[in-house]
Amino acid sequence: MTRKTGGIPALILDRDGVINEDVGFLWQVERCRFVDGVFDLARHFVARGYLIVVATNQSGIGRGLFTEGDFRRLMDHIQAEFRRQQAPIAAIYHAPEHPTEGIGRYRRDSAWRKPKPGMILAAERDLGLDLSRSWGIGDEMRDVIACREAGVGTLVLLDQSAQAPAQASDHWVMPRLGDVLTLAEGEKAR
Ligand SMILES: [Mg+2]
Repeated sequence: MTRKTGGIPALILDRDGVINEDVGFLWQVERCRFVDGVFDLARHFVARGYLIVVATNQSGIGRGLFTEGDFRRLMDHIQAEFRRQQAPIAAIYHAPEHPTEGIGRYRRDSAWRKPKPGMILAAERDLGLDLSRSWGIGDEMRDVIACREAGVGTLVLLDQSAQAPAQASDHWVMPRLGDVLTLAEGEKAR
């Protein structure tokens, strides 16, 4: 496979715990609470020519807890809010399968389910992304691993229990999205 150079950079966001507060298998619009700072962060990147991409495991669908339609309704709500906040979402990828808990056709391994990088590689192909200049943000290590495996340049683990921003081996650990914004603002040369 040849790597595309000169593509478009993206801000690749996990959903639960990054865009909305993670309340566990969320599908109800009325229970959706946005994480502090997510729109400021998204606007910053959009203003610099980045695409906003959402990549989210959603095994709740595969487990039969909610439907594809429920997922789509919540994402419509989230997309509308991002548009209203001047930071439209360019694309949404989700992986409804689960290898052991999935029901029927959903019980299978998927190359899209994080920590596998399938969703991010699909976004790279579909949108012509330059992953080396892209940022990936998640609240679990599987998000970081998926982005790392795909070749995303800047990796951030959002961890509310962290005392202060810190650099791990190849990724940042940040207590708040505001810290990510501060980091991004410091990289004006990118
Ligand atoms: Mg998450």
